[in-house]
Amino acid sequence: MQRPRQMQRLLFLLLGQLLTFASCYTTPGPKHEQRPGGPSQEHWGYSDQDWREDYQKCDGKSQSPINVEISKTIVNKNLPKITLEGYSLPETTLLNLTNNGHTVQLSLPESMSISNTFPQKYLASQLHFHWGTESSPGAEHTVDGIRYVAEMHIVHYAAKYGSLRGAAQKADGLAVLAVLFQIGPNDNENYNHIFDKLEAISQEGDEVYIPGFDVNALLPHQLSRFFRYNGSLTTPPCFQTVTWTVFNDTVQLSKEQLHKLETSLKTGHHTLDSNFRFVQPLNGRNVLASFSSTLPSGRMVVKESAESGGDDKPGLELDEPNAFSNSSDGNQIALGDTLAIIFGILFGCTALIFVVYVLRQRKHQRLNTESGKKVIYKPTNTMEA
Ligand SMILES: [Zn+2]
Repeated sequence: MQRPRQMQRLLFLLLGQLLTFASCYTTPGPKHEQRPGGPSQEHWGYSDQDWREDYQKCDGKSQSPINVEISKTIVNKNLPKITLEGYSLPETTLLNLTNNGHTVQLSLPESMSISNTFPQKYLASQLHFHWGTESSPGAEHTVDGIRYVAEMHIVHYAAKYGSLRGAAQKADGLAVLAVLFQIGPNDNENYNHIFDKLEAISQEGDEVYIPGFDVNALLPHQLSRFFRYNGSLTTPPCFQTVTWTVFNDTVQLSKEQLHKLETSLKTGHHTLDSNFRFVQPLNGRNVLASFSSTLPSGRMVVKESAESGGDDKPGLELDEPNAFSNSSDGNQIALGDTLAIIFGILFGCTALIFVVYVLRQRKHQRLNTESGKKVIYKPTNTMEA
């Protein structure tokens, strides 16, 4: 009866290890899909991102998002700095905030613009977000392979084309500013104008109006460090008409704020999450950097002081693993890793001791044989049934 019991214990140990590893390395993928018959007219989703059949442009050679490899960027310190006009909106301007089934989108007035940055003026149209789940990050652009927790896009169109629709298919039609988010210790109050209203637009198609506020406050402190490249809309119809500006410095949100973004909205009957497109091949495109990094192997990110809530001057630090984790899930992973290592070491030690024991026994037997003694093999009790 002893032998099966031991085998059982061994099996439990192995099973435990397997489960620990599984819990560590199984990351949930995007789980929702556009269901037919929903309010949205566009039947595309993020769980199947093969959009080429319905939207040919999505198969183009200059698609977005991309992974920015800092060491391969072309430094150009003469890139004009980003000049934003009219970003501080009066409260009397009411802004439409809607859940369109793909994201939360805030309409912006044409009085907001990017000026003296590109050869022409670009007027604001809307801003929206991309995010992951509570256990996996969901920014679209990655930097040196790091995916940040979420990303915001502020979409502008060339003034000369008169409208977003008119500009969307023109080569120089669109300019999008991209902001990457990290987890910080405090609520970023500047985002509560939007996040406080998410529950009010939980259903696809819902909308509310919010008073104008200072949209500048949603941006990183330092706008002079950015990456620039030519790409596309990251959603169908994937027009390749976007001049991208991805800010190097990140903006911090609290864990609670991110949680709200990840869980408040629905698309059909599902939670609206993981609404990010996978990175696309660069296909020889140049990515410019407006700055040269003093830390060639690391990414410079803004570190806000815990007390300031994000108002102090930013300092620099190497990128941290928290870019990947957003919460207790990060702790769970760390705990899982630790357990896996402990079980691994225990298992390894047991195996090593067993091997040493067997070798010593054999040596002992050989010595006994050589010295002419009669060798009696007597199994121990534990090996008996
Ligand atoms: Zn976007």
